[in-house]
Amino acid sequence: MPTQNPCSNASLKGFVFSMNRRIYFDNAATTPLLDEVLEVMLPVLREHYGNPSSIHAEGRRARTLVESARKTVAQALGASTAEIFFTSGGTESNNTAIKCAVRDLGVRRIISSPTEHHAVLHAIEAIAREYPLEVHWLRVDAQGRPELEQLEQLLAQGNAPRTLVSLMHANNEIGVVLDLGTISALCGQYGALLHTDAVQTVGHFPLNVQQTPVSFLSGSAHKFHGPKGVGFLYINAHNFIRPFIDGGGQERNLRGGTENVAGIVGMAKALELAVRDLDTRAAYIRQLRRHFIERLCETFDDIRFNGTPEDDNDLYTVLSVSFPPSPKNELLLLHLDIAGISASGGSACTSGAEQHSSHVLDAIQADPQRKTIRFSFSHLNHVEEVEKTMEKLREILMPATRALSR
Ligand code: PLP
Repeated sequence: MPTQNPCSNASLKGFVFSMNRRIYFDNAATTPLLDEVLEVMLPVLREHYGNPSSIHAEGRRARTLVESARKTVAQALGASTAEIFFTSGGTESNNTAIKCAVRDLGVRRIISSPTEHHAVLHAIEAIAREYPLEVHWLRVDAQGRPELEQLEQLLAQGNAPRTLVSLMHANNEIGVVLDLGTISALCGQYGALLHTDAVQTVGHFPLNVQQTPVSFLSGSAHKFHGPKGVGFLYINAHNFIRPFIDGGGQERNLRGGTENVAGIVGMAKALELAVRDLDTRAAYIRQLRRHFIERLCETFDDIRFNGTPEDDNDLYTVLSVSFPPSPKNELLLLHLDIAGISASGGSACTSGAEQHSSHVLDAIQADPQRKTIRFSFSHLNHVEEVEKTMEKLREILMPATRALSR
């Protein structure tokens, strides 16, 4: 059972666990901003308000901050600074990579998976309405892994048009992690471009674009305890694309718009901390999640999990729990919320309503009679929160489960 929380060494100043606090198990939707991150952002907002494009002292100071942040992000990925472009987040990064690959790099075939985030699915659907594109959705297995044999068959086809493969590193709903090394090697072998949505893994898994080459990689600060509304796109130096957002010449002419300096500085700090503490945080969260699984299985009958939580390479921050059919399930998320526990149904849904299905659960043919709740963790969670959640789940689900009859 995890006892020592890595944040107790003052990464969260003044943080004291209290059972009256709400319990936040929705870290795949977004993570809390760390105090250390806020501390580096505040002076930027207060004092270093210059526009990085201005040539006077304030502007030069802001430019220095942006370029220093670029260096931090590049180092974290084994990239060069010229390959990192700041964006407003994962959605913009995904849109830029996919749409510009078609518009500017001659891509006429896209291979992706039905379990991608909507920022990829909808970007592909949108660009396919504008260009004569061949789009292939790979078959996925019951755990949500796209079939790599099918990928290779498609890539190996002779006379195929220029191809972009867009596959996410880890799935945000069910936590399955793809074998990026193999996918990268296949794309290299057959000359396809590769985009990976690494929004859920940047800062949580070691990533190195020299060891695992990709053409594009998307990241988003708020998934690793940085601020919202800022992210980055890694673009391999061999790919020259035109601006996705037309305007001024910011981001080396790729993305018009005055830079979100405080956000960029905060993202770099959050990433620096995430990389520095990656092993400690990962070990702690893995333990916490294992404990959550054990407690669920000993408390309730017929608990199942989507994805591959028993796999050590799985996205350890995510646990997709499938509860057996019960009339109590219908409003389970709402009851948890009332009990002070934030979780989510599969993915963060745009309407805020409790969703009955998700495209990812549909793709893995999850039993629609069962109820899926995604609990997602960070190093700021505590084992006491797991216990409290079990207690609340018991109260909510009784007498529909075995726990009640005890
Ligand atoms: N891709 C994945 C896998 C995500 O989980 C998310 C956020 O939920 C996004 C993309 C979108 O990122 P952002 O919220 O920064 O636009």
